[in-house]
Amino acid sequence: MKLSTRNKDACVVVFSGGQDSTTCLLWAMKQYKEVVAVSFDYGQRHKAELDCAKEITDELNVEWHVMDMSLLNQLAPNSLTRSDIKVQQEEAADGEVPNSVVDGRNMLFLTFAAVFAKQRGITDIITGVSQSDFSGYPDCRDVFIKSLNATLDLAMDYTFCVITPLMWIDKCETWKMADELGGLSLVRDKTLTCYNGIRGEGCGNCPSCKLRKAGYDKFVELYRNNN
Ligand code: ZN
Repeated sequence: MKLSTRNKDACVVVFSGGQDSTTCLLWAMKQYKEVVAVSFDYGQRHKAELDCAKEITDELNVEWHVMDMSLLNQLAPNSLTRSDIKVQQEEAADGEVPNSVVDGRNMLFLTFAAVFAKQRGITDIITGVSQSDFSGYPDCRDVFIKSLNATLDLAMDYTFCVITPLMWIDKCETWKMADELGGLSLVRDKTLTCYNGIRGEGCGNCPSCKLRKAGYDKFVELYRNNN
């Protein structure tokens, strides 16, 4: 594709309806004229995730697509996709991978998002992965994103730009970012990050809820209490 036909005013956001990707969506809306959100149906236990994604994109008036990735569930049954596998309620020990990891998930999602983006002449792909809160997910690391970006470019003879606004910030700073983007209440009340499928504050007990709450409490303490 010729450079001139590329659409630098648009981006694709990999969107799960969670705190991180919603913050990225808000960020993208400030940076680009046209934002397209893509979500993936991989048989996640909580269809509520997709309901959230739909509601948020409706509210923000963002174009939204769902891609069928049910194959992922057949290949790699996992505590996030199978009701008969219990989600670990504790953080995995050092060097261990939690059983909520779906092998290759981010790689597949980003690859499909890239195929979709190229069809539209879009080069910029936004994902909410973060190395700061790295909890055993190897495909959230910066080295992986850079490696995949190079691979996608080679695979499709195209110049993608995989952008990770949250890579070096923690949950507290992510809350601050949502606040600065005018989306604190949207992210706090409408997103779903809980492994047990409960929106907003969530169950309060799963590793994801604990991480989210600890970040929020720190945000309130650092940036809100003295205002
Ligand atoms: Zn939870």
